Amino acid sequence: MERLARKYGTPLYAYSASHIAQRVELFQQAFSPVPHILCYAVKANSNLAILQLLARQGCGFDVVSGGELERVLAVDHAAAERIVFSGVGKTAAEMDLALRSNILLFNVESEEELELLSQRAGKLRKRARFALRVNPDVFAETHPYISTGMREHKFGIDIRRAAAVYRRPGKHLEASGVSVHIGSQIRSTDPFGAAAERVVKLIVKLRKDGHAIQYMDIGGGLGVEYHMDQPSNAAEKVYQYAAAVIPAVQSVDGLKLLLEPGRFIVAQAGALLARVLYVKKSGDKTFVITDAAMNDLIRPALYQAYHEIVAVKHRRSSRKMVADVVGPVCETGDFFARDRELPPLQQGDLVAILDAGAYGMSLASNYNSRPRPAEVLVNGRTSRLTRRRETIEDMLATERR
Ligand SMILES: *Cc1c(COP(=O)(O)O)cnc(C)c1O
Repeated sequence: MERLARKYGTPLYAYSASHIAQRVELFQQAFSPVPHILCYAVKANSNLAILQLLARQGCGFDVVSGGELERVLAVDHAAAERIVFSGVGKTAAEMDLALRSNILLFNVESEEELELLSQRAGKLRKRARFALRVNPDVFAETHPYISTGMREHKFGIDIRRAAAVYRRPGKHLEASGVSVHIGSQIRSTDPFGAAAERVVKLIVKLRKDGHAIQYMDIGGGLGVEYHMDQPSNAAEKVYQYAAAVIPAVQSVDGLKLLLEPGRFIVAQAGALLARVLYVKKSGDKTFVITDAAMNDLIRPALYQAYHEIVAVKHRRSSRKMVADVVGPVCETGDFFARDRELPPLQQGDLVAILDAGAYGMSLASNYNSRPRPAEVLVNGRTSRLTRRRETIEDMLATERR
């Protein structure tokens, strides 16, 4: 990590290619009893090199914007047949792009959206395969900002009303699935099983109504353990998840499962490397000020998220310091850790903020006019710059006086 930081500078996102590949392999094996497609949720980390790695492993993709769709097409045009398009606010232009690309499935979230999709498909002389994203009213414990499966959330169509919506005819539409996504960073696998059961009930009803439903899309949301003192076995977790979902899939003939994991594939494959700029004492508090900030990794500020922080080089010392690890941005919310016990850190030390591979770089911004960090992909003993550090010129290029 010290070598990476010297070579590419800091702040720097570093990812392990083999870790990502192993997580995909784990999913593929755990779900091998049923026909399935792993549609990686691009929003977790949309770096082209990572998308390419996943496409080469045969993954499909879950996209939520025209921009994400273009990213996938840029790395593998043939992957379009494994793309599902989710999101509550698709525009006509985004639908057209997806229709022309012949994606696998539109996850439709409202009646008005279904109407627009029908119009766009008619105009382009295409048939759009769609699934309604239903809201199963299942509670799953997670941060309120990333819980999505209850009636009061903006996502999906009330599962009790869904059958009526499917009944609306349209010769440019083909009802081919039912989708759910109950939220993110969900650590218990029970809510997934509950959602799957509700969806299967609806699928049985829809088939009786004469719809050729082929796909059940269970969404993403499987959580990872961010705390080092609560280690969890990734394989065990995925098999538990599979055990919760598979029986529902098998209860209906010829049903194909779509999975949309994001975080679980990439979170623990990535670290954000940062250099200590200053160590500042103020009253009883100690602040470790790093060159990375909330614009580079916003999860602590946005979701009160926890990330382990480790010193890359350990000094021989049993002493500990308790400090807040903060960035240079002018916001009190700009912190990575509060009152954290750390090895004694000094100016110039390198720290690694762990488990930052998901919703790190993809949520980075230019706040405080800070250029976004570089990204490297590590593969065995080699590393490759997969996104150069943004420059001030890049930032100013779109503006006019
Ligand atoms: C965000 C999202 C995902 C991925 O969620 P993770 O928690 O990263 O697995 C999958 N599907 C949809 C529709 C999403 O919005």
